[in-house]
Parts: sequence; C-alpha cells; structure tokens
Amino acid sequence: METEKVRLLIIGSGPAGYTAAIYAGRANLSPVLYAGLQPGGQLTTTTIVENFPGHPQGIDANQLMEDMRQQAANFGADIRNGVATKADLSVRPFKITIDDEKLIEADALIIATGAAARYLGLEDEKKYAGMGVSACATCDGFFYRKKVVAVVGGGDTACEEASYLASLAKKVYLIVRKPFLRASKIMQERVMQNEKIEVLFEHNAEGLYGENGVEGVHLVKRLGEADESHYDLPIDGFFLAIGHKPSSDIFKDYLEVDKAGYIVTEGATPRTNIPGVFAAGDVADPHYRQAITAAASGCKAAIEAERFLMK
Ligand code: NDP
Repeated sequence: METEKVRLLIIGSGPAGYTAAIYAGRANLSPVLYAGLQPGGQLTTTTIVENFPGHPQGIDANQLMEDMRQQAANFGADIRNGVATKADLSVRPFKITIDDEKLIEADALIIATGAAARYLGLEDEKKYAGMGVSACATCDGFFYRKKVVAVVGGGDTACEEASYLASLAKKVYLIVRKPFLRASKIMQERVMQNEKIEVLFEHNAEGLYGENGVEGVHLVKRLGEADESHYDLPIDGFFLAIGHKPSSDIFKDYLEVDKAGYIVTEGATPRTNIPGVFAAGDVADPHYRQAITAAASGCKAAIEAERFLMK
C-alpha cells in the first residue's frame, strides 16, 4: 500500500477541520486534511447561515465552507478528497488508512469527523431537504417565525428544540412515538407548560406533502394497535430531533468515547486520552453542535497540536 509520512493529519472538512487547518497552516505545520464523505460537513445540508459572526446579512452555507477551505489552502494546508477508513493509534507515528488504499503516517492527528443527524428514513425527508425539513432548530428556526412547525422526538434535544422553536413559531407540534417523553423532568415540564407546544403522543410521521415545500405531514396514531388511525396535519416546517451519531467508529478501539460514541476530551481542551491525538467539533461535542463552537475547538486543537509537535 502506498505510504506517506506527514507531521499533522486533519480528518474532516467542517468548521472544526478547516479552522484547525488555517491555524496549523499559519504555524508552518504543513497540515494535510482529508475532507471525508461530505466535503464542507453538515453545514452544507442547510441553506443560509445567519449566526456565524462577521456576516451581518447571513451567508450561504456552502459559500461559508468554500471560503474556509480557500482560507486554509491559502495558508498552505494540503486539502484532499478521501475518507479515513481505518486507524491504528497504538503505534507512533499514527497510521490512518484513506479509502482503503493509502496509508498516512502522522506525528499528530486532529479528528474533526463531525456527527450526522439521524433521520427517520422517509423518502420525503430527502425530497424536501432544505425546503421545510431540518435537523437543526438553532440553524433554521428563524425562518419559521409565526409559522407552524413539527418536531419529531421525545428526548432532551427534541424538548429543547421544541421550546426554542416555540419562542419563534406560532405553534409547535411535538411528535412522540411513545406514550411518554424520554427527556429529563425539567425539560418535560418546560414543554408541557408551554402553551404553544402540543405534544402528540403515540404518533409517527409517515410522509410529508406540499407543492413547493412542506405544507403538511401524514401522521399515524397508535401504529400497529387495533385503533390505528391516519390523518394529515398542516405544517410549514418539519424538524428532526431523534439523535445524532458521532463519526467516531474507526477510533473507538483506542479512544475513550461516551455511551453515545462522542470522543471524550480532557476538560475544555481537545486532548484525548492519547497524547498527540486531538478531537474537535461535533465528534466530541454532544451539547452545542454549532459551526462557531466547532471552529473554536478546531483552533484549540491546532494550537495543542503545535505545542505537542514542538516538544
Ligand atoms: P435521545 O436518544 O435521548 O432521544 C431520542 C428521541 O428520539 C427519543 O424520544 C426516541 O424515542 C426518538 N426516536 C428515535 N428514533 C426514532 C424514530 N425512528 N421515530 C420516532 N422517534 C424516534 O437523543 P437526544 O438527542 O434527545 O439526546 C442525546 C443525549 O444528549 C441524551 O443523553 C440527552 O440527555 C443529552 N442532551 C442533553 C441536553 C441538555 O442537558 N440540555 C440537551 C440535548 C441532549 P424513544 O424514546 O421511543 O426511543
């Protein structure tokens, strides 16, 4: 297998990966970055980004990521297409296989592989992507001011997103498949006490409809029971909040991860349990999951990597 030795390898091309590449490039570390399955990361699945500082009119998400890529390249980052398919972090230099056909040996490694929102798997989720379907209320909620939206899920994320959306929207339906919420007590109470939120227990979404965007959801009540019933509910926006999956699978044999698979880092730093391996962005962040927080952790990871390599 073709083998190449690098000082610093960055895996992932969301805000964390590109910010790490900008800082590492400016520090003359000649970083090599592999962009992964979705160049530009999760943000490329949304439309306008209005909460990234420095863009008072908002910015097209793809443009923002292209700007970050260009900025990293300008400072000497070697940005390549390719997916990390295997890792051996038990040896030094660390060994990372790309696309099962090339071996990269790296003195330091920044993992910025992100996380993916879980979807229900409905064809209509793809059909209406960016046209009323979203997996991020903080990113897209603003577009639904005074409108009617539905959130799917019964955990803390769903309750948090429903509460947030209720502060903007006219009405929020929370679609919960069980007869109860799984969220923490305080979040449940917040949802139940909010007059704008109506919880639809024992409901599942079967599909969406609408001419030029989401106009409603096909619902089934008490799926599989004798009194199962189907009806349509008019909505303008459909938000998924049924969990995220961090892209940490190939590192799990070496790095400490929590029960959901997020890489555990030391306090507020991006340091993992292996010196020289750093985790930045959503792969290590079950809480904030924002472009700006990911970018900040990418910056920290690059500074840590520089200090590690100088030693
Ligand atoms: P969870 O796994 O806790 O909840 C997922 C929810 O989605 C559940 O209600 C689940 O239903 C539902 N769900 C899953 N798959 C489907 C499906 N196919 N159809 C319909 N519903 C489905 O994920 P969260 O993202 O809410 O939370 C992840 C972790 O992060 C948790 O530990 C949570 O406590 C934590 N968190 C903490 C926050 C805070 O402290 N502020 C904020 C957000 C998250 P069911 O119950 O039937 O399985």
